[in-house]
Amino acid sequence: MPRPPRNRSSRAAADHASSEPERHYHPRTPLDSTLFVLLSSAVAALMAGLGPLPLLGRDRLPTVAIGWANALAAGLMLGPAYLLMAAGLAYLPTSGALGAVLGIGFVWLTHHAAGTEDLDLNQRERVSDVYGYQVMLINTLHSAWEGVAIGAAMGVGLPFGAFMAVAIGVHNVPEATVLSAILRERGVRGGQAAMLSIATDVPQVLMAVVVFSVVRAAPAFLPWSIGFAFGSLVYLVLAELLPQCYRQAGRTSMALVTLVAMGMVVLLGGLAG
Ligand SMILES: [Zn+2]
Repeated sequence: MPRPPRNRSSRAAADHASSEPERHYHPRTPLDSTLFVLLSSAVAALMAGLGPLPLLGRDRLPTVAIGWANALAAGLMLGPAYLLMAAGLAYLPTSGALGAVLGIGFVWLTHHAAGTEDLDLNQRERVSDVYGYQVMLINTLHSAWEGVAIGAAMGVGLPFGAFMAVAIGVHNVPEATVLSAILRERGVRGGQAAMLSIATDVPQVLMAVVVFSVVRAAPAFLPWSIGFAFGSLVYLVLAELLPQCYRQAGRTSMALVTLVAMGMVVLLGGLAG
């Protein structure tokens, strides 16, 4: 994780904010940095294809397993969010905080525009013909905000961004398991569910490349994008993932799985330092 400047409130810190990102835009590898972002985020998205594996040989997962998968995904979003926040404090905290407000606002707005703000994401019984499509839409929007997180982290530094892509990629697996379980119960086969899970994560790749390109061209947007990613990730966990999984596997196990997953990401991020 990048180290904060010594005096965040000083003019020097502001200067540091604009010069710091440039230090990282020249990877030691011969690979072009934008291509590196594209490939890392594409691998993360492809990992969603592993999501349907727990469904092999069965039509239905126990509800408690869906809850654990949701809690695991939640923890693997809170960990990256924490690391981003810690990195963001080294830049301009006020811009980061305003970015977080924007991130929360954008997530709420997209839900509101799609009419999905109160949709129960793990409805296992057949509720309506469009339910499967609505869940896919939510997953697609959800992955876009995670792409912002990868792109912003890449803007902080390519090694930090690569770590973020791995964490988000691992998180894509349990999230795809939940989506596949819902699709499976609506007649979608395993291979198709894997492809659809990867498809819903394509915005992750697009947003990672777009955000990285923007903060590389205009470093002043870096603290904003870090804050935006932090706000949207935490809001998604609190508004989308956790409310339903408390019902699925009980509060204690949900809290523990979420916290352990978050702690592992923060610990590994600290060790990778
Ligand atoms: Zn997620």
